[in-house]
Amino acid sequence: MVAYHSTRGAAPELSFADVLLTGLAPDGGLYVPTSWPSGHIAPQMPYADYATEVMWPFVEGSIDRASFASIVADAYATFTHPDVIPVESLQDGVQLVELFHGPTLAFKDVAMQLLGRLFDHELERRQERVTIVGATSGDTGSAAIEAFRDRDNVDIVILHPHNRTSEVQRRQMTTVLASNVHNVAVEGTFDDCQDLVKAMFADTAFRDRVRLAAVNSINWARVMAQVVYYHWAAGQSDGPVSITVPTGNFGNVFAGRVAQRMGAPIDRFVVASNRNAILTQFFSGAEMTIGPVEPSLSPSMDIQVSSNLERLIHELLGGDGAAVAEQLTRFRSEGHVAFGPEVVSKLSERWVGERLTDEETLEVMAEVYETDGMILDPHTAVGVGAARRRVGDLPELVMATAHPAKFPAAVEQATGLHPELPDHLDDLFEREERFTVLPNELATVQAFVDAARR
Ligand SMILES: *Cc1c(COP(=O)(O)O)cnc(C)c1O
Repeated sequence: MVAYHSTRGAAPELSFADVLLTGLAPDGGLYVPTSWPSGHIAPQMPYADYATEVMWPFVEGSIDRASFASIVADAYATFTHPDVIPVESLQDGVQLVELFHGPTLAFKDVAMQLLGRLFDHELERRQERVTIVGATSGDTGSAAIEAFRDRDNVDIVILHPHNRTSEVQRRQMTTVLASNVHNVAVEGTFDDCQDLVKAMFADTAFRDRVRLAAVNSINWARVMAQVVYYHWAAGQSDGPVSITVPTGNFGNVFAGRVAQRMGAPIDRFVVASNRNAILTQFFSGAEMTIGPVEPSLSPSMDIQVSSNLERLIHELLGGDGAAVAEQLTRFRSEGHVAFGPEVVSKLSERWVGERLTDEETLEVMAEVYETDGMILDPHTAVGVGAARRRVGDLPELVMATAHPAKFPAAVEQATGLHPELPDHLDDLFEREERFTVLPNELATVQAFVDAARR
């Protein structure tokens, strides 16, 4: 049975069920397992069965096996591809691990579909309810709403910046008319939305009264759900592979590192970034300097501080929680941190950073369309471009993180084509929308959340 402790070393150990509902540790750290289960299982069974096998050691003791298996089966029954996560080859040998066949067409569904069901199960057992509040610039909000719609023990309020998300992204959130789902369009930017959420969590009286909960990418259960497809994809090649991951908050690729520690045959990770390339700096010299976030064609990777990187830093610093806290506090206050030669040499064994400009991203999309007749979304294209620079010594797998129809403007710019939405979403533009426009004022948004709860 696996227990969990904080990367900053100053919070009590918790069980899986507590970590699921807690999110961030009280010392400001992220939860990681105190020991790593070992074992790579050959992917010779349906995905849901495989996922149950791989995740079981992480949840054992918090849930019974039959309930867990049925939750996992239910979660992946929402995916439209019979293999759930198919692996496709391009002409040049690069293989795409298609993570986007879930309800909202981005890889976040793989974790969120499981998380929604696990939350409901655990809250039911405890006879408790929570209110999930989150801010989104697009993908996370829609994946969370799809996962938590109609859950008995959860109300969900998602803030998005009014008139600043793409129409596909907005409609994926606002056309979900379930009674426990509430969309707020804030008159402000994404940062304003995030600040409102932070302020609500900081208001202890409010937080306790509405039982506020978060499902952001630092939640351990999200990482855990993603570990599965690294075993799954790597196990389909003979021998070790290299895996390239289009990266923002580092949650996806960190799950790959967990799979590798468990024994999955993964030799190397290529961390792919757009022009916001602080991670490229980290993987070349173990240092980071915060700059302004610049918008790009791959908006889900427009990030400067990758929150899940803390989990890798914890490992690189030998599990020394006090050192993690010190270095990351300094990084936040001074905008710079350098980890020194020992960390540089540890990183060089297994990690590479690559960055692509928007122009390079569009070129990859155009080329792949020409040679393979396949349309890539701009995030996946950043991954393919990065992987191609590395092709040679190992089979190259790329995590394909979104369906192209989620980013029609970039696809049109690169290929001249308008990507079609899959069948289950083809009437998205005719569906009724429901959302409330609110000013960027904490008291007003808090009053809305209070009134929205069942
Ligand atoms: C969220 C997201 C990413 C970044 O994933 P992280 O886990 O934050 O690194 C990449 N591509 C797409 C399409 C996403 O939605």
